[in-house]
Amino acid sequence: MSPSDITVHIDTREKAGTFTNFDVIRGYVALTVTSGISLNHILVKLEGISKTELLVPKNPSARVDKETGKYDPKEMKRVEETHRVLYNTVMVFPPENVRTVSKQKEFTLTPGEYKYPFSFKILFANDCTTSLKTTFGRDLVLETSKHVHAQLPPSFSGMGNTAQVKYFIKVTAKRSSLLRTNLRSFKPFVMLPLDYNGLDPSEESNKIMFVRRSVVFKNMLPAIVEVKPAPPKRLMVKTSDVPFYVEARLGFPACLAPSTVPAFSLHIVSPLPSRNYRLSNGDTSGLGAIYITSLSVDLLMTTLVIAQGHKSELKSVERLLSFSGIHEVDLCEVKESTAKDHKTGEPLHELELPQSLFQNAVLKDHIPPSFKTCNINRKYQLCIACGVSSTANNGKSAQKVELVTDVRVSSGLSMSMAMREQVESSLDGMERPTLLTRPTTSTISSMRTDLVGVSETSVVNSSHEEPPALPSYEDVLWQDTAQSDVEHRKARWRYQQHEQHYTH
Ligand SMILES: [Zn+2]
Repeated sequence: MSPSDITVHIDTREKAGTFTNFDVIRGYVALTVTSGISLNHILVKLEGISKTELLVPKNPSARVDKETGKYDPKEMKRVEETHRVLYNTVMVFPPENVRTVSKQKEFTLTPGEYKYPFSFKILFANDCTTSLKTTFGRDLVLETSKHVHAQLPPSFSGMGNTAQVKYFIKVTAKRSSLLRTNLRSFKPFVMLPLDYNGLDPSEESNKIMFVRRSVVFKNMLPAIVEVKPAPPKRLMVKTSDVPFYVEARLGFPACLAPSTVPAFSLHIVSPLPSRNYRLSNGDTSGLGAIYITSLSVDLLMTTLVIAQGHKSELKSVERLLSFSGIHEVDLCEVKESTAKDHKTGEPLHELELPQSLFQNAVLKDHIPPSFKTCNINRKYQLCIACGVSSTANNGKSAQKVELVTDVRVSSGLSMSMAMREQVESSLDGMERPTLLTRPTTSTISSMRTDLVGVSETSVVNSSHEEPPALPSYEDVLWQDTAQSDVEHRKARWRYQQHEQHYTH
């Protein structure tokens, strides 16, 4: 049996086991000494690491197997990159008063139980750039990516060694004798950052982000034709095109939070007013009938992984909703919209699809919020695909409309105004989260999205100014959060990690 045993305990009662920016993480080191032990010190470390690993060809001439299109495994090597996004240490033994008066390097502990409390404050931004200068720090990066100064990332697991963000408390009891191994213990904890998008809240409230795609049902006939009392000999019924847009609207910046009702709405927008689809008595002519035959909502997840100059973009999809059935809408029901046609400047007409069609499109609890570190960038897109048909018969004739837009996934931990102001007031070049108002060019061409923009008080305004460079953050006093304790605790509870997170 080992003469002594050391363990780290983190107090999780108050914070539901998940910590966020500005939290104080408290705990204690428990040391059980069974026979006398001589120590130099006991050091507690708070650490957060962003670690990546990629398999890359050993040299540029590595051969690709023609059949599989992959490199021969023998020609591959592993490259790793680790950035320490959070680092702090405290010496809990010998106590400070002893250290200041004593030159002694060695302290003997008699058998018994010892407890050494510690506490650390978790800051707002990462400390990657300065951590390399600390006394106890080592430069872990061989060929480092440029350091990104940004808000601390969330714990991130489930991608194995390819990409992970881990936070933990580590304790080392340094034995005086070089022949004795030091006592060590490790305890991971979950980090979920506060929601911060770098925007003034007043700027957000009056803007809507939208993505719109046009559809035309060609050469359509009305279901009911009006015939005057004295009909002409031959009844001529003219066909007409039925143009409309399918549009998704999100707040600005477009943001989704796990476990809450979807923060978007779906609309059918018509360039023509409702009278074009009505008979003179006000009844529908049937010309403007649109059948929604399917609806799916997917979250597209992209993880950009960088390791020693090598990059890999890994994509996956999480289906949030899949509906197939028939939901009928009629353009005779459209109302004048505050939105205008971006080409003609004419007012548009719209109707909203019921929320009940997609209310189950809820993000799962474990989806990490969007984040960026020096070597990992996690981004999301929302893809809403809708089948529209001019007939109720079947889905076969349906046209598929895809609306794709960049979204931020938030943590669900709101920030109070006061807290936000303090973060804003201590800016020194910290990277702001990217605001997502435009899809990438490739999205436009591949998805043929007609229009993506930000609408402000009825004017389509897709112009987008980069926000000024943002802050580094030193210390902010803990303030009330912007949500109730219950909501805050719920958000902390839900963010569970893959089992990989808990292994050393
Ligand atoms: Zn870094």
